[in-house]
Amino acid sequence: MKVIYTDNNATTQVAPEVLEEMLPYFHELYGNPSSMHTFGGSVGHKIKEARAKVASLIGASPEEIIFTSCGTESNNTAIQAAIRSYPDKMHIITTRVEHPAVKNLCEYLSKNGYRVTFVPVDRKGRLDVDYLYENLTDDTAIVSIMWANNESGVIFPIEEISRTVKEKGVVFHTDAVQAIGKIPVDVRNVGLDMLSLSGHKLHAPKGVGALYVRKGTKFSPFLIGGHQESGRRGGTENSASIVGLGKACELAVDHIEEVNTRIKHLRDKLENEIINTIPNTMINGDRKNRLPNTTNIAFEYVEGESILLMMDELGICASSGSACTSGSLEPSHVLRAMGVPFTAAHGTIRFSLSTYNSEDEINFIVEQLPPIIERLRKMSPFWQECQMAS
Ligand code: PLP
Repeated sequence: MKVIYTDNNATTQVAPEVLEEMLPYFHELYGNPSSMHTFGGSVGHKIKEARAKVASLIGASPEEIIFTSCGTESNNTAIQAAIRSYPDKMHIITTRVEHPAVKNLCEYLSKNGYRVTFVPVDRKGRLDVDYLYENLTDDTAIVSIMWANNESGVIFPIEEISRTVKEKGVVFHTDAVQAIGKIPVDVRNVGLDMLSLSGHKLHAPKGVGALYVRKGTKFSPFLIGGHQESGRRGGTENSASIVGLGKACELAVDHIEEVNTRIKHLRDKLENEIINTIPNTMINGDRKNRLPNTTNIAFEYVEGESILLMMDELGICASSGSACTSGSLEPSHVLRAMGVPFTAAHGTIRFSLSTYNSEDEINFIVEQLPPIIERLRKMSPFWQECQMAS
């Protein structure tokens, strides 16, 4: 069975060009980049090249890039670095819709002496920036706001927020894991101190990420160890994956244009055909300001997990909007923060496309989905009630 993969916000396929670039660094070129000999040094040289490519994608200088193991490590490093650099400041600002890599760390810190402000979003997933500004104080150690939301795809006004945060002299970090490679990001236009990115969201392998730290930003390492990454992150470099991340960033420069045209066209086609052919469906999130590859669709009165299972039988991969915790299917914290009604949040599916999706795949999904929803609704007591009431 052919797999139709529309779950690219979860992870992406490693691009063939990326894999090809990486392969020698597993077997032939296995030297330690820190070694004095030429053999190891050649790997060090390739890492230097990769650092320049990552920097170039976001308009940074190579010295401002620290390689990490993933987006989660980059986020943890950024927030911990800020609170350690400003030990007298006990307040953190973030949002109610962050990825657990920020949300759970902030919740942990809130139980350990920090006061955390979680900025709300509206029904369309847009950030309440005034609430953010009102809560900035002299005690704020860091503001950490994601660039784009992984579930709804909604893009936050990072450039605008950075102006106010920097006027106050507060450290500003953004989790740009979902934005990088999908929309243009240039740190020269934004008053950012730190930015996180992750390889496996942009066709590089899993297990590699990066943290941009603006020159002059106070920093203290999260992983204390060797002198790697100029003493800012100990641990022998994951050479092959770093080389892969460099190549993926190089490719992303070309992909961004394509994501904004071809992939956006496929996303719009998928979403419009679903909305127009299946009753009681709605888009969660601000349709005017979203990642071009993402759509988050609520199919009212059915369970997202059942839709996923039936699509899975046809080889279609997507995500639901529920977190399967303690046996109950709770809608995700993002959908709850957006105030998506219970009957819609439970039946929410996220499709996230990539450069490897085709029009034929989209046609297949829009053909297969209506009978799936119809079958599930026939079994749904909520749907029967809704039909009787109308
Ligand atoms: N931040 C966002 C917005 C994400 O979507 C993800 C992964 O889904 C992460 C952080 C974590 O990245 P990683 O899987 O590389 O740790």
